[in-house]
Amino acid sequence: MKINFILNDEELTVDLDPLFPTLRFLREEKGLSSVKTGCGEGECGACTVILGSLDNGKLKYRNVASCLLPAGELDGKHLVTLEGINMTELSPVQKAFVDEGAIQCGFCTPGFIMSITGFLLSSKDLTKENILNAIDGNICRCTGYYSIKRATEKILLAAESGFDKEDRINSLAELSIIPEYFGSVKRRLNKIKNNSEKSSIITDPREAPVFLAGGTDLLVSGPGRPGPEVRLISDIENISEIFEDNNFIHVGAGSTVEDIIDSEILNQYVPGISDFMYLISSQIIRNTATLGGNIANASPIGDLSVLFLVLDAVLDIKSENGVREVLLRDFFKDYKVMDLEAGELILKMRVPKYSENRFFNFEKVSRRKYLDIASCNSASSFCLDGDVIKRCDLSAGGVAAVPLFLKESSSYLTGRKIGEETMNSVIEVAMDEISPISDVRGSSDYKRELLRRLIKAHFVKLEGWM
Ligand SMILES: Cc1cc2nc3c(=O)[nH]c(=O)nc-3n(C[C@H](O)[C@H](O)[C@H](O)COP(=O)(O)OP(=O)(O)OC[C@H]3O[C@@H](n4cnc5c(N)ncnc54)[C@H](O)[C@@H]3O)c2cc1C
Repeated sequence: MKINFILNDEELTVDLDPLFPTLRFLREEKGLSSVKTGCGEGECGACTVILGSLDNGKLKYRNVASCLLPAGELDGKHLVTLEGINMTELSPVQKAFVDEGAIQCGFCTPGFIMSITGFLLSSKDLTKENILNAIDGNICRCTGYYSIKRATEKILLAAESGFDKEDRINSLAELSIIPEYFGSVKRRLNKIKNNSEKSSIITDPREAPVFLAGGTDLLVSGPGRPGPEVRLISDIENISEIFEDNNFIHVGAGSTVEDIIDSEILNQYVPGISDFMYLISSQIIRNTATLGGNIANASPIGDLSVLFLVLDAVLDIKSENGVREVLLRDFFKDYKVMDLEAGELILKMRVPKYSENRFFNFEKVSRRKYLDIASCNSASSFCLDGDVIKRCDLSAGGVAAVPLFLKESSSYLTGRKIGEETMNSVIEVAMDEISPISDVRGSSDYKRELLRRLIKAHFVKLEGWM
């Protein structure tokens, strides 16, 4: 595939397999050694780069793990490595790391600097919480996090003076946080976009295409190509849109976890959804991992699948024959078996808008609180009439071959009074609905115990909310 993009300040056209990892391109073909090879699976952040793209005429930057960034995604974009923000003097970000002793062996440092510079280029608000969220995927194994935290506080102080959100690029350039060439990137990307030929993707009509969204599952699966033809989700118009009409919230399959965090509509109808989303991996993964990828990979512990199962969500699925709809609850058939034919594309998910006040909760247990895939997760949605449950929807992950809607438990709760007796009895119903297996994430008994506790957590939080 021919890929036209800007690497730091250089306009490039390269011919690469769309699945080729950007990390390998940067190190092996461009000799950019600031981008470190660490885990190779998006867990450590040593390979963090910044990716800029045009979105409705606006230039938007996000920090991403280059080990899981497929080269095809670079087309029409601005890729920035540490070399691309180095100037003759240290930037205030780099200087704060030096001044606070936040560097020891230095292996993780470029990744931290890129995540923080990406934060300054993109964050809605320059807050302590947001800057720490931006580095939640960067692991340091020798310096220690306190000096890094001190450096972030200094960076916020330096950035706040003279920072203008509406004129972000110029103000960051004036603060010497990014080089001046950033000011010309939007114009240059517009030019590249007009010359870009999307049809250059490899095609083989004999085989159904493999859809590539964020690549955070596909690229972890290893270097082998999944099939001869790769279709980039990001090439499909409007696939990342989130909007509402009278009846539904429409969430495009290409929406990333961070898009969901930022969506005012979703936060309004599903209170707390942003907080639940922060339990998914780290920002460098959340910036690329999509809703469609989470559902289509059909992992029994997929957080988004488990979460949307309690919201009556409907999938719009596109094939050559048109668009059909499938209830998310009917979509998962068996381990990694879905109601999705080869070549069919999940276009979007529609979430019905409810008129009643609802309590909504998501719980997740993993070996680490953040940055880890669940051992067991569960979501609940309650609609109450006083202390009587008018309607309840419960789901659980990690306790069956699929992300599981707990149908029996949900209908058992309808019409019952909230209280300890109801809670204990529905747990027994749930135990009959699940079939966990023992694996690296725990024994089947342990997973049963986890789900018991997660259901209790739903009830405890529900009583707090009432
Ligand atoms: C470090 C790390 C941490 C992670 N932590 C979590 C976590 O906490 N919780 C969690 O749930 N997951 C986690 N994941 C898994 C992964 O990030 C998510 O499942 C993510 O949502 C996958 O989306 P993607 O866009 O990257 O999918 P891709 O890798 O691009 O695709 C995954 C599969 O879906 C198919 N596909 C993608 N989009 C569509 C579509 N629109 N229609 C049809 N098929 C499609 C692809 O062909 C592929 O088979 C983690 C992954 C990594 C690497």
